[in-house]
Parts: sequence; structure tokens; C-alpha cells
Amino acid sequence: MMRIDIISGVPALLDGPLNHSIVGRAKEKELVEIFVHDLRDYSEDKHKKIDDYPYGGGAGMVLSPQPIFSCIEKLKSERSYDEVIFTSPDGNRFEQTDANALSLKKNLIILCGHYKGVDQRVRDELVTLEYSIGDYVLSGGELPAMVMTDAIVRLIPGAIGDAESALSDSFQNELLEGPIYTRPVEFKGMSVPEVLRSGDHKKVKKWREEQSIKQTKERRPDLYKKFKKNN
Ligand code: SAH
Repeated sequence: MMRIDIISGVPALLDGPLNHSIVGRAKEKELVEIFVHDLRDYSEDKHKKIDDYPYGGGAGMVLSPQPIFSCIEKLKSERSYDEVIFTSPDGNRFEQTDANALSLKKNLIILCGHYKGVDQRVRDELVTLEYSIGDYVLSGGELPAMVMTDAIVRLIPGAIGDAESALSDSFQNELLEGPIYTRPVEFKGMSVPEVLRSGDHKKVKKWREEQSIKQTKERRPDLYKKFKKNN
């Protein structure tokens, strides 16, 4: 079973999303275990402080190295980890290919920053991968940790009922997924394209491929260029 340990100064932020839908079911099916660790539990400070002022001055607080080192060293003493991931706006952009690769790993640690971030020595000494989920700044790494966990866990075989479905999603083949429809055939005067109702699987497949390419060309010329190069 895969194991993900998420380390956070605000663990309450991680409460909901990991217990429902696909990730929640993957936990129930024992495809993945997810543990959340509260940095305060590892603080040796008598007031359980986990942050401090930045050297050199300036606004904002910095997560101290001691609780993070204690937590990660304890986890590492219990099992070996494939990666220690830090969420950071200056990290590599987290993409589908990263989710694919990480879904094949056994044990992962995800460290959430907060306030101004973490003491650099944590990144130099413990962290093996740094990821950003986009060019904007969030208050903490908890939402990015959940974004990455969701993207990774849904790829574990068995997490999604229909195994085909994860592979047909956008980005898996450098293309966006085209439009999808469900019942009813007619809704407020708008109807479902004829071809999808034809029952002709070959025609449906061809239509979907065409739509997928059209959608990508229109919406994501950058992706389309990559797709053209590789196909
Ligand atoms: N001072 C930092 C921003 C800190 S934001 C800087 O300018 O780069 C506080 C924490 O939120 C970060 O340490 C990181 O863990 C998380 N975070 C914020 N935005 C993020 C993003 N786009 N991707 C991943 N993590 C992010």
C-alpha cells in the first residue's frame, strides 16, 4: 500500500478533502494510507512554538528547523521514503507527468510551508523535490499538498472504478479532453451531438479525438505545439 505523510503547522486545513470522493475511497480500499503530522507535536520549545523571526529582518515568520527535522527524522527512522517533497512557489511546476511518476512510489513525505516559508537548511538537507502548483502565492502549502495528493492518488490502479477514465483525462496525452454529455438527449433546446448517440464506437472515438485536438489547438496552443512535435 502507498503511504503519504503530510507535515503541517495547520493540520486542520487538511481535514476535509482527503476523506471524501476518490481519495477517501482509495483509503477505504486500502490503496493508500495518508497521515497528517502536526508540527507542534514535534516542537521542543516549552510553548510549542514552530516559527520565529527571519534573520536580517523583514516581515513575516519562518518555520523553524527543529520541529521539521525532528518529525522527518522520526519518520525516516521507521521506514525509508522515496521522496521528501516541499511545496513552494519557486519549485518546479507540478504537472501530470509528475503525478504519474509519483503514483508509482511507495512512501512519500509532503512538507507544507507557512508564513514566509521554512528555514533554508530544511530545504538544503531534507527536501528531495520542490513543487509549485502555479504562479500565485498561497498562505500555506496545505492546499498544494492536497492538490498533489489528489492528483497522485487517483492514478493508483483501482482508485478510479473505470481504469480507462484516468488515462483519457486532459494532459495524459498532451491533449485536453473534449466536451462530454450525459442524459437527457434534449435539455432546454440543446441537444447531444448525434455521433455520441450513434452507438458506432469507431465513429465516437474518431469524433472524440478530433474534438480533443480542436479544443487543445484553440485553448492551449502551447500544449498543441508539444503534441504536434511528438505525434
Ligand atoms: N515567501 C515565499 C512565499 C511563502 S507562502 C515566496 O515568496 O516564495 C507560504 C507557503 O505556502 C510556502 O512556503 C509554500 O509552502 C506554500 N505555497 C504558497 N504558494 C504556493 C504555490 N503556488 N505552490 C506551492 N506551494 C505554495
